[in-house]
Amino acid sequence: MIKTVRLYIVYFSIGMLGAITLPAAAQNLAFTSSPVQGNVHMLEPANTYGNVGIFAGDEGILIVDSHFQQTVGELFSEVEKISSAEVKFLINTHVHPDHIGGNSLLADYGVTIVAHDLVRMQMLSEIQIPRNGGTFTPQPAASARPVLTYTDAITFHLNGEEVRVFHAPPAHTGGDSFVYFVGSDVLHLGDVFRTRRYPIIDHYNGGSFLGMIDAMGLAIGMAGPNTKVIPGHGTGFTDRDGMIEFQQLLFTLRDRVQDLIDQDYSIEEILEARPSSDLDADWGDDPGWTADDLLPIIYKELAQ
Ligand SMILES: [Zn+2]
Repeated sequence: MIKTVRLYIVYFSIGMLGAITLPAAAQNLAFTSSPVQGNVHMLEPANTYGNVGIFAGDEGILIVDSHFQQTVGELFSEVEKISSAEVKFLINTHVHPDHIGGNSLLADYGVTIVAHDLVRMQMLSEIQIPRNGGTFTPQPAASARPVLTYTDAITFHLNGEEVRVFHAPPAHTGGDSFVYFVGSDVLHLGDVFRTRRYPIIDHYNGGSFLGMIDAMGLAIGMAGPNTKVIPGHGTGFTDRDGMIEFQQLLFTLRDRVQDLIDQDYSIEEILEARPSSDLDADWGDDPGWTADDLLPIIYKELAQ
Protein backbone atom coordinates (compact mmCIF):
# COMPACT_ATOMS: atom_id res chain seq x y z
CA MET A 1 0.00 0.00 0.00
CA ILE A 2 2.66 2.47 1.00
CA LYS A 3 4.71 1.73 -2.11
CA THR A 4 1.65 2.52 -4.17
CA VAL A 5 1.15 5.72 -2.29
CA ARG A 6 4.75 6.79 -2.80
CA LEU A 7 4.47 6.13 -6.52
CA TYR A 8 1.33 8.15 -6.60
CA ILE A 9 2.91 11.11 -4.89
CA VAL A 10 5.65 11.22 -7.53
CA TYR A 11 3.06 11.03 -10.28
CA PHE A 12 0.94 13.58 -8.53
CA SER A 13 3.75 16.10 -8.18
CA ILE A 14 4.83 15.87 -11.79
CA GLY A 15 1.40 15.57 -13.28
CA MET A 16 -0.28 18.28 -11.31
CA LEU A 17 2.34 20.93 -11.82
CA GLY A 18 2.26 20.75 -15.58
CA ALA A 19 -1.29 19.96 -16.45
CA ILE A 20 -3.75 21.40 -14.01
CA THR A 21 -4.32 24.83 -12.57
CA LEU A 22 -5.36 24.47 -8.98
CA PRO A 23 -8.54 26.19 -7.83
CA ALA A 24 -7.97 29.06 -5.44
CA ALA A 25 -9.22 26.97 -2.56
CA ALA A 26 -6.42 24.44 -3.04
CA GLN A 27 -3.47 26.75 -3.72
CA ASN A 28 -1.83 26.33 -0.32
CA LEU A 29 -1.26 22.64 -0.26
CA ALA A 30 0.46 22.14 3.05
CA PHE A 31 -1.26 20.59 6.03
CA THR A 32 -0.25 21.20 9.61
CA SER A 33 -0.32 17.87 11.43
CA SER A 34 -0.97 17.77 15.17
CA PRO A 35 -1.42 14.85 17.56
CA VAL A 36 -4.79 15.34 19.23
CA GLN A 37 -5.08 12.54 21.78
CA GLY A 38 -4.69 8.75 21.82
CA ASN A 39 -4.64 7.39 18.26
CA VAL A 40 -6.01 10.54 16.62
CA HIS A 41 -4.20 13.25 14.68
CA MET A 42 -5.60 16.35 13.00
CA LEU A 43 -4.46 17.68 9.63
CA GLU A 44 -5.23 21.35 9.33
CA PRO A 45 -5.07 22.66 5.75
CA ALA A 46 -3.25 25.94 5.25
CA ASN A 47 -6.18 27.16 3.14
CA THR A 48 -8.49 26.59 6.18
CA TYR A 49 -10.84 24.29 4.28
CA GLY A 50 -11.96 21.01 5.83
CA ASN A 51 -9.88 19.77 8.79
CA VAL A 52 -8.98 16.11 8.34
CA GLY A 53 -8.96 13.55 11.16
CA ILE A 54 -6.49 10.62 11.10
CA PHE A 55 -7.04 7.56 13.30
CA ALA A 56 -3.99 5.32 13.07
CA GLY A 57 -2.89 2.04 14.59
CA ASP A 58 -1.38 -1.32 13.68
CA GLU A 59 -4.62 -2.67 12.21
CA GLY A 60 -5.12 0.20 9.81
CA ILE A 61 -5.86 3.85 9.27
CA LEU A 62 -9.24 5.55 9.16
CA ILE A 63 -9.47 9.07 7.72
CA VAL A 64 -12.24 11.56 8.41
CA ASP A 65 -12.90 13.73 5.32
CA SER A 66 -10.78 13.82 2.18
CA HIS A 67 -10.25 17.57 1.57
CA PHE A 68 -9.62 18.29 -2.15
CA GLN A 69 -8.50 15.98 -4.93
CA GLN A 70 -5.45 18.17 -5.50
CA THR A 71 -4.20 17.66 -1.95
CA VAL A 72 -4.53 13.87 -1.66
CA GLY A 73 -0.80 13.45 -2.36
CA GLU A 74 0.11 15.74 0.52
CA LEU A 75 -2.52 14.16 2.71
CA PHE A 76 -0.94 10.74 2.15
CA SER A 77 2.55 12.03 2.82
CA GLU A 78 1.34 13.39 6.17
CA VAL A 79 -0.39 10.08 6.93
CA GLU A 80 2.85 8.23 6.18
CA LYS A 81 4.65 10.30 8.80
CA ILE A 82 2.10 9.13 11.38
CA SER A 83 1.89 5.43 10.48
CA SER A 84 2.97 2.91 7.85
CA ALA A 85 -0.27 0.95 8.25
CA GLU A 86 -2.77 0.58 5.43
CA VAL A 87 -5.38 3.27 4.87
CA LYS A 88 -8.59 1.27 5.10
CA PHE A 89 -11.53 3.60 5.64
CA LEU A 90 -12.65 7.12 4.82
CA ILE A 91 -15.64 8.73 6.53
CA ASN A 92 -17.23 11.78 4.91
CA THR A 93 -18.82 13.98 7.57
CA HIS A 94 -21.01 15.59 4.88
CA VAL A 95 -21.27 16.28 1.17
CA HIS A 96 -19.42 19.58 0.69
CA PRO A 97 -16.61 19.62 -1.89
CA ASP A 98 -13.81 20.35 0.60
CA HIS A 99 -14.74 17.20 2.54
CA ILE A 100 -15.28 14.75 -0.34
CA GLY A 101 -12.85 16.10 -2.96
CA GLY A 102 -10.26 13.37 -2.47
CA ASN A 103 -12.77 10.52 -2.48
CA SER A 104 -12.14 9.13 -5.96
CA LEU A 105 -8.39 8.91 -5.51
CA LEU A 106 -8.76 7.25 -2.13
CA ALA A 107 -11.25 4.80 -3.62
CA ASP A 108 -8.66 4.00 -6.31
CA TYR A 109 -6.40 2.78 -3.51
CA GLY A 110 -9.08 0.47 -2.22
CA VAL A 111 -10.13 2.68 0.68
CA THR A 112 -13.73 2.00 1.72
CA ILE A 113 -15.78 5.22 1.80
CA VAL A 114 -18.46 5.50 4.47
CA ALA A 115 -21.08 8.21 5.01
CA HIS A 116 -24.67 8.81 5.98
CA ASP A 117 -27.31 7.60 3.48
CA LEU A 118 -28.15 11.18 2.51
CA VAL A 119 -24.59 12.01 1.48
CA ARG A 120 -24.67 9.33 -1.20
CA MET A 121 -28.06 10.61 -2.37
CA GLN A 122 -26.76 14.16 -2.54
CA MET A 123 -23.82 12.99 -4.66
CA LEU A 124 -26.13 11.70 -7.38
CA SER A 125 -26.58 15.19 -8.84
CA GLU A 126 -24.77 18.51 -8.93
CA ILE A 127 -24.45 20.00 -5.47
CA GLN A 128 -25.76 23.41 -4.48
CA ILE A 129 -23.79 25.01 -1.67
CA PRO A 130 -24.80 28.00 0.43
CA ARG A 131 -21.94 30.43 -0.14
CA ASN A 132 -22.48 33.41 -2.41
CA GLY A 133 -26.22 33.04 -2.42
CA GLY A 134 -26.22 29.39 -3.49
CA THR A 135 -23.65 28.26 -6.02
CA PHE A 136 -23.45 24.89 -7.78
CA THR A 137 -20.57 22.46 -7.94
CA PRO A 138 -20.46 19.62 -10.46
CA GLN A 139 -21.83 16.18 -9.66
CA PRO A 140 -19.04 14.13 -8.07
CA ALA A 141 -17.71 11.17 -10.04
CA ALA A 142 -19.38 7.81 -9.44
CA SER A 143 -16.12 6.57 -7.93
CA ALA A 144 -16.37 9.25 -5.22
CA ARG A 145 -19.59 7.86 -3.78
CA PRO A 146 -19.64 6.13 -0.41
CA VAL A 147 -19.93 2.37 -0.88
CA LEU A 148 -21.11 1.86 2.68
CA THR A 149 -23.86 4.08 4.07
CA TYR A 150 -25.73 4.04 7.35
CA THR A 151 -29.02 5.43 8.62
CA ASP A 152 -28.60 6.09 12.34
CA ALA A 153 -25.18 4.87 13.44
CA ILE A 154 -22.32 2.55 12.56
CA THR A 155 -19.41 1.42 14.73
CA PHE A 156 -15.90 0.46 13.64
CA HIS A 157 -13.82 -1.89 15.76
CA LEU A 158 -10.25 -1.05 14.86
CA ASN A 159 -6.91 -0.63 16.59
CA GLY A 160 -8.29 -1.85 19.89
CA GLU A 161 -11.01 0.77 20.19
CA GLU A 162 -14.47 1.66 18.95
CA VAL A 163 -15.08 4.42 16.46
CA ARG A 164 -18.73 5.42 16.63
CA VAL A 165 -20.16 7.26 13.65
CA PHE A 166 -23.66 8.58 14.06
CA HIS A 167 -26.15 10.86 12.39
CA ALA A 168 -26.36 14.28 14.01
CA PRO A 169 -29.62 16.25 14.10
CA PRO A 170 -29.98 18.36 10.91
CA ALA A 171 -27.44 21.15 11.41
CA HIS A 172 -24.79 22.15 8.86
CA THR A 173 -26.52 19.81 6.38
CA GLY A 174 -29.09 17.05 6.76
CA GLY A 175 -26.45 14.34 6.38
CA ASP A 176 -23.94 15.33 9.05
CA SER A 177 -21.98 12.59 10.78
CA PHE A 178 -20.35 12.94 14.16
CA VAL A 179 -17.36 10.65 14.73
CA TYR A 180 -16.41 9.65 18.26
CA PHE A 181 -13.16 7.80 18.90
CA VAL A 182 -14.11 6.22 22.19
CA GLY A 183 -10.76 4.97 23.47
CA SER A 184 -8.91 8.10 22.41
CA ASP A 185 -11.80 10.28 23.67
CA VAL A 186 -11.81 12.50 20.58
CA LEU A 187 -14.84 13.88 18.72
CA HIS A 188 -14.75 15.04 15.09
CA LEU A 189 -17.85 17.15 14.44
CA GLY A 190 -17.37 18.09 10.80
CA ASP A 191 -18.78 21.48 9.87
CA VAL A 192 -21.48 21.43 12.54
CA PHE A 193 -18.74 23.07 14.58
CA ARG A 194 -16.29 25.58 13.22
CA THR A 195 -14.29 27.61 15.65
CA ARG A 196 -14.59 31.38 15.89
CA ARG A 197 -16.82 31.76 12.83
CA TYR A 198 -20.55 32.06 12.42
CA PRO A 199 -22.04 28.66 11.62
CA ILE A 200 -22.87 27.87 8.02
CA ILE A 201 -26.38 26.46 7.65
CA ASP A 202 -26.86 24.75 4.30
CA HIS A 203 -30.58 24.90 3.66
CA TYR A 204 -30.08 23.45 0.19
CA ASN A 205 -28.88 20.19 1.70
CA GLY A 206 -31.15 19.87 4.71
CA GLY A 207 -29.31 22.00 7.27
CA SER A 208 -31.06 23.73 10.17
CA PHE A 209 -29.99 26.48 12.59
CA LEU A 210 -32.27 25.21 15.35
CA GLY A 211 -31.09 21.68 14.62
CA MET A 212 -27.52 22.88 15.07
CA ILE A 213 -28.36 23.95 18.62
CA ASP A 214 -29.64 20.42 19.25
CA ALA A 215 -26.61 18.86 17.57
CA MET A 216 -24.20 20.87 19.70
CA GLY A 217 -26.23 19.92 22.78
CA LEU A 218 -25.78 16.27 21.85
CA ALA A 219 -22.03 16.67 21.43
CA ILE A 220 -21.66 18.64 24.65
CA GLY A 221 -23.66 15.99 26.49
CA MET A 222 -21.28 13.29 25.25
CA ALA A 223 -18.09 15.14 26.10
CA GLY A 224 -16.21 14.73 29.34
CA PRO A 225 -13.58 17.00 30.88
CA ASN A 226 -10.79 15.36 28.88
CA THR A 227 -12.57 15.04 25.52
CA LYS A 228 -10.80 16.74 22.61
CA VAL A 229 -12.86 18.09 19.73
CA ILE A 230 -11.85 18.57 16.10
CA PRO A 231 -13.88 21.27 14.33
CA GLY A 232 -14.64 21.02 10.62
CA HIS A 233 -12.92 24.35 10.12
CA GLY A 234 -10.81 26.49 12.41
CA THR A 235 -7.41 26.55 14.02
CA GLY A 236 -6.51 23.73 16.33
CA PHE A 237 -8.63 21.30 18.27
CA THR A 238 -10.68 22.35 21.26
CA ASP A 239 -12.73 20.82 24.05
CA ARG A 240 -16.08 20.83 25.84
CA ASP A 241 -15.69 24.46 26.87
CA GLY A 242 -15.05 25.44 23.26
CA MET A 243 -18.29 23.73 22.21
CA ILE A 244 -20.22 25.41 25.03
CA GLU A 245 -18.93 28.82 23.92
CA PHE A 246 -20.11 28.11 20.37
CA GLN A 247 -23.51 26.91 21.56
CA GLN A 248 -23.86 30.08 23.62
CA LEU A 249 -23.33 32.07 20.43
CA LEU A 250 -26.16 30.11 18.81
CA PHE A 251 -28.44 30.76 21.79
CA THR A 252 -27.62 34.48 21.74
CA LEU A 253 -28.35 34.83 18.01
CA ARG A 254 -31.57 32.85 18.33
CA ASP A 255 -32.84 34.90 21.26
CA ARG A 256 -31.98 38.25 19.71
CA VAL A 257 -33.66 37.45 16.40
CA GLN A 258 -36.70 36.04 18.20
CA ASP A 259 -36.96 39.20 20.25
CA LEU A 260 -37.12 41.32 17.10
CA ILE A 261 -39.63 38.96 15.47
CA ASP A 262 -41.79 39.36 18.56
CA GLN A 263 -41.67 43.10 17.89
CA ASP A 264 -42.90 42.48 14.32
CA TYR A 265 -39.58 43.30 12.65
CA SER A 266 -39.25 42.17 9.04
CA ILE A 267 -36.01 40.54 7.93
CA GLU A 268 -35.00 43.82 6.26
CA GLU A 269 -35.54 45.65 9.55
CA ILE A 270 -33.61 42.97 11.44
CA LEU A 271 -30.64 43.32 9.12
CA GLU A 272 -30.87 47.09 9.59
CA ALA A 273 -31.01 46.72 13.40
CA ARG A 274 -27.99 44.38 13.24
CA PRO A 275 -28.58 42.34 16.40
CA SER A 276 -25.16 40.73 15.95
CA SER A 277 -23.19 43.99 15.84
CA ASP A 278 -21.20 43.28 19.02
CA LEU A 279 -20.39 39.75 17.81
CA ASP A 280 -19.42 40.42 14.21
CA ALA A 281 -15.80 41.36 14.88
CA ASP A 282 -15.21 38.14 16.78
CA TRP A 283 -17.29 35.67 14.75
CA GLY A 284 -17.98 37.29 11.39
CA ASP A 285 -14.47 37.30 9.98
CA ASP A 286 -15.31 35.27 6.88
CA PRO A 287 -16.16 37.45 3.88
CA GLY A 288 -17.97 34.50 2.30
CA TRP A 289 -20.27 34.00 5.29
CA THR A 290 -21.27 36.93 7.48
CA ALA A 291 -24.24 37.85 9.65
CA ASP A 292 -25.94 39.01 6.42
CA ASP A 293 -25.93 35.37 5.31
CA LEU A 294 -26.84 33.83 8.66
CA LEU A 295 -29.51 36.19 10.06
CA PRO A 296 -32.03 35.56 7.24
CA ILE A 297 -31.72 31.81 7.87
CA ILE A 298 -32.38 32.22 11.58
CA TYR A 299 -35.31 34.52 10.78
CA LYS A 300 -36.76 32.06 8.31
CA GLU A 301 -36.71 29.21 10.82
CA LEU A 302 -38.03 31.24 13.76
CA ALA A 303 -40.75 33.04 11.78
CA GLN A 304 -42.29 29.82 10.49
ZN1 LIG B 1 -19.38 22.02 4.90
